[in-house]
Amino acid sequence: MSKEPSCKKCRRAGVKLFLKGDRCNGPSCAMLKKAYPPGEKGKRRNKISEYGKELREKQKLRYWYNLTEDQFKKYVVEAMKRQGGDEDSGDVLIKSLENRLDNAVYRLGLAESRAKARQMVNHGLIVVNGRKVDIPSYHLKQGDIISVNPSKKNKQVFENLSEKLKNHQTPTWLFFDAGKLEGKMTGDPVPSEVEPPVKLTSIFEFYSR
Ligand code: SF4
Repeated sequence: MSKEPSCKKCRRAGVKLFLKGDRCNGPSCAMLKKAYPPGEKGKRRNKISEYGKELREKQKLRYWYNLTEDQFKKYVVEAMKRQGGDEDSGDVLIKSLENRLDNAVYRLGLAESRAKARQMVNHGLIVVNGRKVDIPSYHLKQGDIISVNPSKKNKQVFENLSEKLKNHQTPTWLFFDAGKLEGKMTGDPVPSEVEPPVKLTSIFEFYSR
């Protein structure tokens, strides 16, 4: 994972990538005060090449899902293999990224960012269909039940969760029972609902070079 601080990633990308949870929706968001690239000369955005634009789109989506270059590339290559099939390769890419366990934990509102969701999975705080799964990339299927590990329910990270979830919007393919701290994958992710701030075709062009 890139060591660059999260807010600098947003400033470089020129768009809010929502990498820091609650802070992203508040007045401390760096994109409100410094909406220009980091660095001394950053106040203006230089003209960039076509390659630079494609690279930027790729980085945005990679950061958005909190993945390393190798991890992200695997998803894109897999989606490109399905090019020409019934389904749009952009939709294939978004669906497989949304099907990751760490992403679902974030989407359910159990974690305030994908980075925190990944940590929770890594630390064994999440179970799928009653069994501990500590692999953030775990691919969920329709019908899977995602819940908080019963032995970890008292962890500080789950304190005041129902309060925090009051304004949380769960996507249509997930259902969350706040009382049980349990979510269910009720359908396939809907790419049109995801709306990542990127041009997906540029990402495929980047990896086709
Ligand atoms: Fe990006 Fe969030 Fe930092 Fe704002 S607060 S710049 S959205 S990571």
